[in-house]
Amino acid sequence: MGLRFDVITLFPEIIEGYCSCALLGRGIKNNIIELKTTNPRDFTHDKHRRVDDTPYGGSAGMVMMAPPVFEAYESIEKLPDSEFIMLTPQGEPYNQKISKELAQKNQIILLCGRYEGFDERIRTGLKPREISLGDYVLTGGELGALCIIDSVSRHLHGFLGKDESAVDDSFSEGLKGLLEHPQYTKPREYRGMRVPDVLLNGNHQEIEKYRLNERIKRTKERRADLWEKVKDNLKET
Ligand code: SAM
Repeated sequence: MGLRFDVITLFPEIIEGYCSCALLGRGIKNNIIELKTTNPRDFTHDKHRRVDDTPYGGSAGMVMMAPPVFEAYESIEKLPDSEFIMLTPQGEPYNQKISKELAQKNQIILLCGRYEGFDERIRTGLKPREISLGDYVLTGGELGALCIIDSVSRHLHGFLGKDESAVDDSFSEGLKGLLEHPQYTKPREYRGMRVPDVLLNGNHQEIEKYRLNERIKRTKERRADLWEKVKDNLKET
């Protein structure tokens, strides 16, 4: 069986819609990944099926209630080597290194918030790993869950086409953590813009040298912070 993603969400259709398309859809069909959604609304016990309420102490907006989230989480079958993640702008910033690490797991349970976020007891009681997509605020955790599902799946054997590999993506070890070099395909010339000659001459050593220089140039220009972190990786070559 493939890596199992369980998503706790009030909007399963967002997750299921995205995951039914393209590579993720194929990954599910080929049993490389498994996807299941669990809706906290199915774990309410009142006739209005409430999952949110006003914050104690007063302030704008609504807060996701603890009981339906606890019960939704507890209803999920836990596999050995499972990771439980809460999507929150207050969590550790997500990156390629974390996605690679998560790809080693058997199961990833993703908890998506809505409204003004979670009752704090969800965090303190269930002790999830807290992950953020970045320093901005979304309306819900579903996009974060999808980013994790998508980026983690790329590391799984057989998920990408046979000639592709996540090892050569930007930030990955194949590229020593650098940004990827520019890519070109046919036609050779378009609106006066030509494919660099070096890519057409069939000399693989020269092509690799050109690409490495471009990766270094791009990383220095666009991500000085990343360059500082990865420049020592190049000394090993
Ligand atoms: N009031 C919360 C705060 O300021 O920390 C933000 C709540 S946000 C409107 C609703 C939900 O969207 C969050 O509970 C979380 O699941 C998700 N979310 C929003 N921004 C996110 C981010 N940068 N990374 C991950 N999840 C995020």
